[in-house]
Amino acid sequence: MAYKISDACVNCGACEGECPVNAISEKDGKRVIDADTCVSCGSCAPVCPTEAISEE
Ligand code: SF4
Repeated sequence: MAYKISDACVNCGACEGECPVNAISEKDGKRVIDADTCVSCGSCAPVCPTEAISEE
């Protein structure tokens, strides 16, 4: 299980600093979560202004 960022992402970067394992990076104008690195802590989801982050 890992969290995923949807197309609602506006690339604001708010989530990136919240991730304790640095799983979030920028790619092609969006933020993406590396599923192998994510530990599903959920820290990133509440800070997203467009509610683009959810568990998959
Ligand atoms: Fe990082 Fe936690 Fe979000 Fe996974 S759920 S990307 S570990 S902040």
